Order: sequence, then C-alpha cells, then structure tokens
Amino acid sequence: MQIIEIYKSLQGESSYTGLPCVFVRLAGCNLRCAWCDSEYTFKGGNRMTLDEIEGEVHRLLPAGGLVEITGGEPLLQEREVVPLMDRLLAAGYTVLLETSGERPLERVPSRVVKIVDVKCPDSGEGDTFRLENLNALTPQDEMKFVVASRRDYEFARDFIHEHRLSSLVASVIVSPAFRKDAAGARDVSHCLVEPQDLAEWMLADGLQARLGLQIHKFIWEPSLKGV
Ligand code: SF4
Repeated sequence: MQIIEIYKSLQGESSYTGLPCVFVRLAGCNLRCAWCDSEYTFKGGNRMTLDEIEGEVHRLLPAGGLVEITGGEPLLQEREVVPLMDRLLAAGYTVLLETSGERPLERVPSRVVKIVDVKCPDSGEGDTFRLENLNALTPQDEMKFVVASRRDYEFARDFIHEHRLSSLVASVIVSPAFRKDAAGARDVSHCLVEPQDLAEWMLADGLQARLGLQIHKFIWEPSLKGV
C-alpha cells in the first residue's frame, strides 16, 4: 500500500476525541476540498506491505487500542485496505475509518467504525456523497459535516433532518472548518465559522448533533503534521 505516515497521537475528532490512537495515513485523494489540511497526502508516500504496516502499528501500540485508517481517501486503495482492516480487527484493535463517503462503503468490514465526512457546498466538493452509502451505515458509525459558512451549516442541518441521521448512527458531528494555512496561535481565530455562532445556530434549531472542535489544532501548533 502507498502510505504517507504512521504515527501515534491523540484522536482529535469524533466521539473518540482525546484517546490515544495510531494513525495510518494513506496516500492519494480524488477530491480537492477548499480547506483541505492534508494536501501533502495527494502524492508520494512509501510502499509498505500489510505485514510492515501491522508491525508498525503493533510497535506503536503493543497493548492494543485505537487505530484510525485515514488519508487522503483510504478507500482508493480498497483492495489492500480491506484486508488490512480485517487483520487489525483480528489482532484486537478498535479500527476507525475516516472517509468522505464518495467511495462505496459496502465492502468495509462491519466491525470497523466508519467516520463519514459528508462534504458541504463551500468545500467545493458538495454533492459527492454517495447516497447508497446510507444503507451501509451501522449504529456504531459516525457522520461528520465540516462547515465553512452559514450556507454549509444549513446544508448539514437539512441533510441531518432529511436522512434522520441521529437515529442512524452513533454520533453526528458538526465542526467548523479550519483555515488550511493556519499557523501560530492555537485558538479559534483560524476557524472559518466562529464556534460560538455555530453553537448558537445548533441550539436555535434544536439540532440532534454534536459540535466538534479538532482538539489537536488547539493542543499543538496548527500547521504541525503527524500529531
Ligand atoms: S477528502 Fe480529505 S484529504 Fe481529500 S481533499 Fe477533502 S479534506 Fe483533503
């Protein structure tokens, strides 16, 4: 598989936020989100076998725990990433898969927790979510909307209502987008939507969703990779 990096950090998003986690970051993405903070994954990386990847995960997290498969878009390497997830599950890890939902999800092993990032219009990649993927979701999965504007928020709100997401998955998360060139201060000044505004919109609408902040951007310098 083509791998950008494997590292241990704290999970910064989702309902697993704050837990130690090994991240396996795969190369390549077929989308180009306007606020993408992972453009370094689009090209390059190193070829690694499944044995090498599993060995590195075990070295970093020998006692088991959380492993997130991320990218880029990991399902672009589906032929190899599905067996990798099977092997990590068999080794006793809890496996999270971060995906845009543009690729089919039906071949993802059912015990993997899918964290599906539905793209909002201001990402420039709206309308890429594959609606049939709603049928592949399980009650342990999570859905995420990264919002860069009031328009994005309204898209997320309407999508959550229309598809009754709060009864479909364990957690629905709405997060402010972070400026992709964010550097320096570890504070909300880099958010494209003021978190306080987002909180107030969610409360006013009684939205059945969780406000998510990417905690790694507040713990470490926001431009730092591999954290
Ligand atoms: S799907 Fe993820 S990695 Fe791909 S462009 Fe969008 S934010 Fe970046």
